[in-house]
Amino acid sequence: MTERDVMEFDVVIVGGGPAGLATAIHLKTLIAAHNTAAEKSGSGQTIAGEVVLIEKAAEIGAHSISGAVMDPKGLDALLPDWRTMEPKAPVEAEVHHDYALWLTENGGFKFPITPPPLKNHGNFVVSLNKMTKWLGGIAEAKGVQIFPGFPGAKLMREGNRVVGVQLQDSGIDKHGAEKGSFQLGGILAGKLVVLAEGSRGSMTKQLIQDLKLEGKNPQVYGIGVKEVWEVPKGQCAPGLVVHTMGYPLDSHTFGGGWVYGMGETEGGKNLVSVGLVVGLDYQDPTLDAHRQLQRMKLNPKIAAFLRGGKMLHYGAKSLPEGGLYSMPRNYGDGFVIVGDSAGLMNSMRLKGIHLAMRSGMLAAETAFACLKKGQFDQAATKEYADRMANDWVHEELWQCRNFHQGFHKGRLLGLLNGGFAQFFKGKGFLFADNLTSKAGHSFMKTVGSYWKGKGKPKLTKLAEDGTLTFDKLTSVYSSGTLHEEDQPCHLVVTQPDLCSTRCVEEFGNPCQHFCPAAVYEMEEKAGTRHGIELKINASNCVHCKTCDIMDPYQVINWVTPEGGGGPNYTNL
Ligand code: SF4
Repeated sequence: MTERDVMEFDVVIVGGGPAGLATAIHLKTLIAAHNTAAEKSGSGQTIAGEVVLIEKAAEIGAHSISGAVMDPKGLDALLPDWRTMEPKAPVEAEVHHDYALWLTENGGFKFPITPPPLKNHGNFVVSLNKMTKWLGGIAEAKGVQIFPGFPGAKLMREGNRVVGVQLQDSGIDKHGAEKGSFQLGGILAGKLVVLAEGSRGSMTKQLIQDLKLEGKNPQVYGIGVKEVWEVPKGQCAPGLVVHTMGYPLDSHTFGGGWVYGMGETEGGKNLVSVGLVVGLDYQDPTLDAHRQLQRMKLNPKIAAFLRGGKMLHYGAKSLPEGGLYSMPRNYGDGFVIVGDSAGLMNSMRLKGIHLAMRSGMLAAETAFACLKKGQFDQAATKEYADRMANDWVHEELWQCRNFHQGFHKGRLLGLLNGGFAQFFKGKGFLFADNLTSKAGHSFMKTVGSYWKGKGKPKLTKLAEDGTLTFDKLTSVYSSGTLHEEDQPCHLVVTQPDLCSTRCVEEFGNPCQHFCPAAVYEMEEKAGTRHGIELKINASNCVHCKTCDIMDPYQVINWVTPEGGGGPNYTNL
């Protein structure tokens, strides 16, 4: 049998988002400063510091999508002179005006004051796609080896110790046979592996399960669906930030929307970002975040921003919303976990880029200390968690540690809980701390129970007009998603029989609704109990991981497809 090639590095970083790139940049900066000092002093104690970063997208930034209003705190720490650097940092616009809207079906009203967590003065509207591309250039210039188009297939372990990453094989057909283009994935051996895979990373998920790293509460996620529009000039000022609550979500569903003025592109296009986040702990088995975004755009207050415009791009991603009590143990023998993979997001502010960058820096400082000591075991990597506990990252997350859990009692109590916490150092209802939570999928009700007393499920199709509202396939087209068609399905359903039996009867196949990219379809099939069976259109997948998170039976396992496949996010 052919042996896999092994390449040896000091540090292997999995993922080219803000957390992984911040780790790479800061680590190389620390090593360079150390080596300069060592050469000057003649100590001769330089560090080689071979750092490699792998990214599943064909190029850095192609899978990066976020809200995104960026708190510059993270970038200020990572690259203090970013405002004057060349090439220029790709920030779209500084926030100059913000407000919050309460939406009803046909209108809404402006809140008299903007809730403090939603104040954004001094922050920047950014395209994470452009920001990560820019950071990737800096990392490369500092000597980081960047391998785009190389997804990690599995972590290499010796017992509990992580010793490297096995890359995905390529050139295998959908039946599992080798094609002419077959290539065995190599192994990147590392003294330290930094997991920066983003939300619900497939290798991180496995590691958390295997080593029982889960926090006090299980992680609870949300899904963000987003469009970027070109609109007539003057219709949405660059740097305007509007957050919405209420319609189209019901009072038992966590979430809210946004409209951000992104400003003008070099080609003179005036861009606007519009999107919606829905908590993946909802009850309605027919809930469809893509459809909810289309409904939100029909509200006259939102439609006014988009009138006469054109939808250019679409994307979706999950985000870890559970907060501090849902964060897994983020270190161990030979590894640390950073960014979204480690649950670093402030769901009260709908922000995570600054936390991701800062966690990358703390991981880099830990990696640097490990390299100097030549020690990479759990006792050494614990320094990462200790650094975080004494950093503003922890301070910020501490203030909102009970936020998301409060919404499990409904929107009104959730908002009251969040408001209460503002004045009592993040404490929840009646000074309660550590509000508990359970995994988001377990909140989903069966069709019979959710619709009891409400009549039949209201699944009437939205009359998408192709101008303001779009069907899922049109949206997927706008995400630039492409995969090699002839490859094994990367959505592994471990108990497919459930789909055409129990799931039909209990939940009505919610995968058809929660997937924002029309990947799951129930098609007619004679001889099955209900005359239907599951069809998976894997090539539509935008890598949001919602199916892996929200499937009520937890039988969908998202694994990395062949390298380079997936969305191609531009301006997102
Ligand atoms: Fe998201 Fe899963 Fe649909 Fe892919 S198949 S777009 S990961 S829900």
